[in-house]
Amino acid sequence: RIYLDWNATAPVLPEVREAMVEALGAVHGNASSIHREGQAARAVVERARRAVARAVGAPAQAVVLTAGATESNNQVLRQHARQTTDPFIVCTVVEHPSVLETVRALEKQGVRVALWPVDSKGRLQKGWLKEQLNAGATLVSVMWANNEIGNIYDIAAIGAEVQAAGATFHVDGTQALGRIPMDFASSHIDYMTLSFHKMGGPKGIGAIVTREGLIVEALLTGGHQERGRRPGTENVPAAAGLEAAARALGTQLDTWREALGERRHSFIEALQSQIEGMELRGDTEHQLLNTLNVAFEGVDGEDLLLAIDLEGISASSGSACTAGSLEPSHVVLAMGFDEPSARRSVRLSFGPHTPMDDLERAASIIAAVVTRLRAMGVNSPV
Ligand code: PMP
Repeated sequence: RIYLDWNATAPVLPEVREAMVEALGAVHGNASSIHREGQAARAVVERARRAVARAVGAPAQAVVLTAGATESNNQVLRQHARQTTDPFIVCTVVEHPSVLETVRALEKQGVRVALWPVDSKGRLQKGWLKEQLNAGATLVSVMWANNEIGNIYDIAAIGAEVQAAGATFHVDGTQALGRIPMDFASSHIDYMTLSFHKMGGPKGIGAIVTREGLIVEALLTGGHQERGRRPGTENVPAAAGLEAAARALGTQLDTWREALGERRHSFIEALQSQIEGMELRGDTEHQLLNTLNVAFEGVDGEDLLLAIDLEGISASSGSACTAGSLEPSHVVLAMGFDEPSARRSVRLSFGPHTPMDDLERAASIIAAVVTRLRAMGVNSPV
C-alpha cells in the first residue's frame, strides 16, 4: 500500500519502536517510586523531557509531558480562561479542532472569542490582529503549520506583535515538527503545544513547552506527577519513544527536509503532467514540503478517496479528527470555497521516508481514477 496520510499520523520510526520495546521490557517501574525500578523509569521520563526541549530550542524545565496535543491545547486555553480577568481569546479560523472546539466551549462559558480570518490561500488577514490586540485580546493562538492545507505561519513575527501588546501567545507546533526548523526561544512564544506522532514518534504522548517563569496548572486532579502539572502515572514506554523521536529530529531535520523537497517536486510534476484541471490549494509559497491539498475539477473528494483506497492508496480529505463526519473541511470553507468545491479537496501528505516510486505510482493511479470518475459522471457540481 501507499500511505499518504502522514498528517493524520506517521509510521513509527525504527529507532522509536526499538526504544519503546526496550522500555516495555526492561523498565517496568513507576516513575514516582523511589526504589531502583522507579528511578530507572524516572530517568527515561527526564531524558524525554530534555530531548523535547533540545529539539525545539527550549530549556528542559520548560517542558511538561502530557497525553498529546489535544490535551495540551485544552490545558493552555482553559488555564488562560480560568486565570485571566476578562479573558479575550483570539485564534485563527483554521486551527485544529482541539483548539477551535475548546475555544467554542469557553465562549459558551462567557469568554470573549474572535476568529482570525484567512484569504483564499489560507493566509491570515493582514492588520486584523492589531485591531484585536487594541481591543484587549488577552491570548492569541496560532498554529505553526496547518494540518489540512500545510500553510506555515510566520510565528516569530506574530509573536513579536503579541508580546509588544502584552498578550499571551500560544502556538500549536504539532504539524511543524520534523518539517521546518522551530526555535522556541526566539519566537516570542509563551506556550507551545506538541505531539510527535506526525513525524514518527509515539501516539498518546505530547508536551507543553512554556516560557521561563510561566507555570502550567493541572487540568486534572490527582497525584503530583510532572511537578503537579499533569497528574497520572507517566507513560514510560511512550516517553522512551518520544526521546528517540526528538533525538532523530535533532540530527536529521536537514536530511528530511531535503528528501521532502525532492518528493514534493516530483510528485507535483507527476500529477500535473497527467491530470488536467488540478488545483493546488493553500499558500504554496509558504507550505509544508510534505503536504499537498489538491482539488480535481468535477471530482468529489470522498469519491476519489474511496476509489484510490481500493487501488492501494491511503489519503484523506482533511483532519482525521473530523474525518467521517462527512462535513467539508472547515479550513477550506474558511478560505471562501463553497461546499461542493470544498468537498473536492483531498490532502496528500507524505514523509521523508516515502519511497519516490510510491509517489510516481500514486500520481498515475490518481490520474487514472480521476479520468474514470470524470467519465462516469460521478461529479460534484462544478
Ligand atoms: N494540533 C494539530 C495541528 C494536529 O494536526 C493534531 C493531530 N491531528 C492535533 C493538534 C492533536 O494532536 P493529538 O493527536 O496528539 O491529540
